[in-house]
Amino acid sequence: MTRTGHPAIADALNGLNTVKIWYDEPMSRHASLKLGGKVDALVMTENEDQLGEVVRRLRAKNIPFLPVGNLTNILVRDGGYRGVMLWMHGLNQLSCVPLADGQYGIDAQAGVTLAKVVALAAAEELTGLEFCTGIPGSVGGAVWMNAGAYGMEIKDVVSFVTVMDGEGKKKNLRRDEIAFAYRKSNLSADAVICGARFILQKGNGAQIKGRMAEIMKMRQEKHPLQYPNAGSVFKNLPGLPAGKLIEEMGLKGLRHGDAQVSNLHANFIVNKGQATASDVLRLIRIIQEKAGKEKGLELETEIVIVGESL
Ligand SMILES: Cc1cc2nc3c(=O)[nH]c(=O)nc-3n(C[C@H](O)[C@H](O)[C@H](O)COP(=O)(O)OP(=O)(O)OC[C@H]3O[C@@H](n4cnc5c(N)ncnc54)[C@H](O)[C@@H]3O)c2cc1C
Repeated sequence: MTRTGHPAIADALNGLNTVKIWYDEPMSRHASLKLGGKVDALVMTENEDQLGEVVRRLRAKNIPFLPVGNLTNILVRDGGYRGVMLWMHGLNQLSCVPLADGQYGIDAQAGVTLAKVVALAAAEELTGLEFCTGIPGSVGGAVWMNAGAYGMEIKDVVSFVTVMDGEGKKKNLRRDEIAFAYRKSNLSADAVICGARFILQKGNGAQIKGRMAEIMKMRQEKHPLQYPNAGSVFKNLPGLPAGKLIEEMGLKGLRHGDAQVSNLHANFIVNKGQATASDVLRLIRIIQEKAGKEKGLELETEIVIVGESL
């Protein structure tokens, strides 16, 4: 039987004094949408050994857990998440290593922000990761989602991914051992990504920084960054960007509570103040139903939806 709740979690993690635990933590404090219910426990470890111990203990007690990074692509329903969210924020090692074949590797633990990886690539004049400029996620989340932009995806630059299984054991999976697809991978649902190596080439520093600045400018112009959001809500359809479809259906600006389909970019839902997860879900449902009824198209969410309804 699955046991959740504070006593079961406290019991499972008893004695792990350096592991940080926040009970009943509202996701509105952490998620980029600034909304979402409470997680039974948000747990942060400082290193992979601790993480392995936590994973083993939770698994042994049948307590559900979900690794999370920067929570920039996740919607936690208003009733919250029963179990543990493993917050990867403490796994923050980042380094650059020259490789034998003249290429360079950037080794990043799962909790490192893409912004830091991109900044290191720029400082070392390495090209390949420019497309990640402005994506606000963590390395773990980006690998899990196979994040992408401007014609490239994480799978194009990742060399191997370090994954931890339910026994807390780590192994490196080469890129060709993982089936990456559009905003997903075939990594098993309980796999915890501990880090990844990105393979990059020496390039022209000015060009790399120029491209990064150009991408940042495009994002600032096209995305409603002044309001809390979770990036693209829906996956694009083949040959049809979801935002274009939503705009064509006349749903730009549609509001429910304080959640609104952005007037700037229709594939973004923004929180105009006190939006709840159910407000956002309501808009998602309206959009999906209209796309189905009027266009015969099935819009799949890109954002990951977890937790319980109120
Ligand atoms: C303004 C804005 C712009 C964005 N632009 C883009 C874009 O251009 N392209 C794009 O692809 N995305 C974009 N995103 C979405 C998001 O930033 C990316 O998908 C990002 O990679 C998610 O990382 P995260 O750390 O926030 O993941 P989270 O939101 O924390 O988690 C997302 C999923 O990944 C899983 N996960 C997270 N960490 C791990 C781990 N260590 N091990 C296993 N699973 C894990 C979670 O369980 C969840 O299923 C944007 C978001 C915003 C807010």
